[in-house]
Amino acid sequence: MTQLIDGKKISQEIKDELKEKVAGMKARGTERCLAVIQVGNDPASAVYVKNKKKACEYIGIRSEAYELAEETTEEELLELIRGLNEREDINGILVQLPLPKQIDEDKILLSIAPEKDVDGFHPVNVGNLSIGRPGYVSCTPAGVIQLLKRSGIEIEGKECVVLGRSNIVGKPMAALLLRENGTVTVCHSRTKNLKEITRRADILVVAIGKPKYVNADYVKEGAVVIDVGIHRMENKKLCGDVDFDSVAPRTSAITPVPGGVGPMTIAMLMHNCVEGIGE
Ligand code: NAP
Repeated sequence: MTQLIDGKKISQEIKDELKEKVAGMKARGTERCLAVIQVGNDPASAVYVKNKKKACEYIGIRSEAYELAEETTEEELLELIRGLNEREDINGILVQLPLPKQIDEDKILLSIAPEKDVDGFHPVNVGNLSIGRPGYVSCTPAGVIQLLKRSGIEIEGKECVVLGRSNIVGKPMAALLLRENGTVTVCHSRTKNLKEITRRADILVVAIGKPKYVNADYVKEGAVVIDVGIHRMENKKLCGDVDFDSVAPRTSAITPVPGGVGPMTIAMLMHNCVEGIGE
């Protein structure tokens, strides 16, 4: 029987645990505050920012929203971040990507103090993850680890294959699976004999950004498949990077899209805001 990994339920569990923790903090006179910066009017970004604010409200995290005009200069944004870095009442700073073209994204991400970088994108946090020191971890791959653990799926000693090597998903995913003592292989667009490698996986994490790319030929009988992809199809429905209907019957467990990895990203962002560095 295939286990459907329920990201909606698991993310709700995490948010409820955090809500309780924040209530305890408030009772002891401390609180958490997240600064969320959006530059311009990208409609998708506006939805993400709204959902982050809603999650903060639910958990009891104070959030400060900075909605800046499309023509904001790099220096103006850097100035705002410098101020937020210095404020003791702000625990987390999040800059919603993408940024308008006059602003250098790398420069902005580097300017956020690593101890407030709740997205886990700053090179200091990326470096800490790779050498096993405490630090913020990128939210989507951290969410995948929670999905596995809270579904009773053991990682230690397992053949783990990560399809995709982006900085925000594939690479930190590989580092986290390694930290959990998996045996990890990372595949990308230049990988030869892709199917042969993915068919070795006990745990296959797919993040290639191509709708329904991975079909049953890529998957070993009984594997666990985690689909990070998210795409809106012409009929307006969402699908992942995995062809769910053909792959699911071969798996022992699989995440659906929607309702799998998606809801975990915000839950882990909230986790980072509440717990700080050092899980
Ligand atoms: P990305 O930056 O586009 O990276 C895609 C990766 O897949 C690259 O490493 C690329 O290899 C590799 N790749 C592309 N085509 C391939 C092929 N035919 N065979 C093998 N490897 C291939 O994407 P991303 O940001 O990691 O995102 C991946 C997916 O996850 C997207 O669908 C995105 O929307 C989704 N996503 C979801 C969440 C969430 O919260 N659920 C969060 C982030 C991303 P090269 O490096 O060689 O180019």
